[in-house]
Amino acid sequence: MKININFPFDNERKEEIYMDIKTKYNFGELVYPISYKTEEIKVFHNCPLCKDKGLVMLNNQEYTCPECRGYTYHIEDGDIEWYVTKDQGKIGRIGVEFYASKYEGKYGNESTIKYMLDSTGIGSGTLWKEEDLFLSLEEAQAECEKRNIEIKNNNMKS
Ligand SMILES: [Zn+2]
Repeated sequence: MKININFPFDNERKEEIYMDIKTKYNFGELVYPISYKTEEIKVFHNCPLCKDKGLVMLNNQEYTCPECRGYTYHIEDGDIEWYVTKDQGKIGRIGVEFYASKYEGKYGNESTIKYMLDSTGIGSGTLWKEEDLFLSLEEAQAECEKRNIEIKNNNMKS
């Protein structure tokens, strides 16, 4: 879809600005969104007394380990993993956000086109980035595989 925007006057550029923005998707198109989850890693504490069982035996009775108090592991964030969500839906809102050049790239500011789907809420709901939406399940799966391989490759390098 083509959106024409006419900014009335840009004080920095001292001129009127017209923008032609082409969006990848159009209203009503069915798209498959992908997202990611963070892997949880159990890190064991190697308790010398209970060997990370959290319990010790005394006179044939089980007690909470006095060394680690049963706190045998904690959870750390591992890799992120991309997956195809079950939120496939039709595009009901297209949002175009542009920053003035002096703000672009700062504090995570990026000019983006974002979509809202009937499956995850129009008006209030999830904002999906254009690069995370696909027209078919196959394309969405292929992109997830590609991104997950990239993550694994980056881990091997570091
Ligand atoms: Zn212990």
